[in-house]
Amino acid sequence: MGKEKAAFDYEEERRKLNWDIPEDYNFVDIIRGWAKDRTKLMAITEHPDGMIEKAAYWEVWDNAMRFGNVLQGSGIHKGDRVLVILPRRTDVYAVSIGIWAIGGVVVPGTIMLRGKDIEYRILDAGVKALITDDPAVADEVDAIKDKIPVINLFFSGQREGWRDYQQEIYSASRDLRIASLTASDPLAINYTSGTTGAPKGVSHTHSLMYCFDRLNRYYWWNTQSDELCWATTEPGWAKWYWGPFGAVLDAGATNFHYSGRFEPEKWFELLDRWKINRACLTPTELRAMATIEDADQRYDLKDLKVILTAGEPCTPGIIKFFDEKFGVSVREGYGQTETCVIACNLPGMEIKPGSMGRFTPGVEGAIVDPETGEKLPSGEKGTIAVARDHPMLFKGYHNKPEKTAECFVGNWYLTGDLAMMDEAGYIWFESRADDVCISSGYRIGPFEVESAVDSHEAVLESAMIPSPDPIRGEVVKVFVVLRKGYEPSEELIKDIQQHVKEVTAPYKYPREVEFVRELPKTISGKIKRRELRTTEFETKRDVIEK
Ligand code: ATP
Ligand code: MG
Repeated sequence: MGKEKAAFDYEEERRKLNWDIPEDYNFVDIIRGWAKDRTKLMAITEHPDGMIEKAAYWEVWDNAMRFGNVLQGSGIHKGDRVLVILPRRTDVYAVSIGIWAIGGVVVPGTIMLRGKDIEYRILDAGVKALITDDPAVADEVDAIKDKIPVINLFFSGQREGWRDYQQEIYSASRDLRIASLTASDPLAINYTSGTTGAPKGVSHTHSLMYCFDRLNRYYWWNTQSDELCWATTEPGWAKWYWGPFGAVLDAGATNFHYSGRFEPEKWFELLDRWKINRACLTPTELRAMATIEDADQRYDLKDLKVILTAGEPCTPGIIKFFDEKFGVSVREGYGQTETCVIACNLPGMEIKPGSMGRFTPGVEGAIVDPETGEKLPSGEKGTIAVARDHPMLFKGYHNKPEKTAECFVGNWYLTGDLAMMDEAGYIWFESRADDVCISSGYRIGPFEVESAVDSHEAVLESAMIPSPDPIRGEVVKVFVVLRKGYEPSEELIKDIQQHVKEVTAPYKYPREVEFVRELPKTISGKIKRRELRTTEFETKRDVIEK
């Protein structure tokens, strides 16, 4: 199994970690430390036209200092929030570090945000400045100008009503009065994916980066400082903090980015040509890559030590494919915008396909009853919880104290995700609490059903939702996207149903199957089951009302 050797004795590590975070810890000092080594590269970006951008830690540091001066000159000070909407390339590093250096708070946003998303973030977080290099984003901002307060707008290049941040960085001084920062100073307000409702602004302090270093970097990624790492996530998501910032910069390693669109062949080609050492890819990307049966004959991934994945359940077929074809382990991690990696597979640990791994050493976690907060014994399904005073936890939802309070019961922070822990301590993700289908008294989560449906040869991907039913209360329904070469038919529906009955407990088989061209997804690529469910419940209103 895989090329990685066991790096940790799990039980030993669980006993070891103490959480005395140095009071003066801050992420700016960490970057300053790595920038002293003039040979160290922070980021390499390849663009689809073949252009390659490389930036050393010291160069980014210099530009960050200059940008800090630009901000201070515009009246931005410690504690002020700055919305950063930049793509994967060097600028996002320099700009974020510049904001932190003056004690500012980064509000990250993806370049896919549209006018109303941007307006929501500006008003909700009380944003004082916005930075983008994307003309489409700037157009959206210009169109909502009468709905937002006057703020500093920075664009890369000349544009009416905007300041040219590249030009201003170029002419600013590198001598910056760096703010004095402690571990409890605010770092970022990260908005959640909004899978279940309006995105929530998750407040974090600099101590988060310390916890990322211990949990995401050391235990999960196990990044070494001479490695080239590729996380395909985009700035604007918590996963950018999980990976490129938290697991790579914390280690002084180098980030690789590709600014083009996802194509499975291209991803193999980049992993091979750049000799990537650690890659963090989404389950959706990995599923598509695993359909290329002869990939191992055309691509050489001998430098790739591990594939990390998180955000959604990783279907067992993915793990099997990369292990058998390339001898590379796919190590899953689990967590939220509100946390660091709560559970994961450590290097060399036996992987049980379908399980997310064990609680990360250093995380006091349990499966609890969400009503009482009581710990449940192994084998019982409950909510994944983390000790409420754990330093990695968010410091609250910005402006939403009631929502924050709802997350805590007794001594626990509740994730809202359901899972079961087996005797060996492995955690089996069941579903988000709200994705469960209750059919004839059975609680059926989407993961097992979708894994079973996805293992049918005609299926590319699927999404399960509960559908109202006059007799059973709800029944399992799946929306299915077919692979190329397959056509929808009644026969195929029967075949998929039969297949599911064979590979998993038959009560879980989808009584309804609907073929669709694509599944609705959040811009971070998660299936929006809630959207499918809402439409389903609306169309079947007569069933519910009967
Ligand atoms: P919102 O909170 O706005 O509804 P969201 O919860 O999708 O959105 P994120 O914080 O980006 O926003 O996602 C965290 C969630 O992703 C977890 O609570 C869990 O449901 C899911 N998740 C993360 N990792 C895994 C994993 N390895 N397996 C299954 N689900 C995962
Ligand atoms: Mg969430």
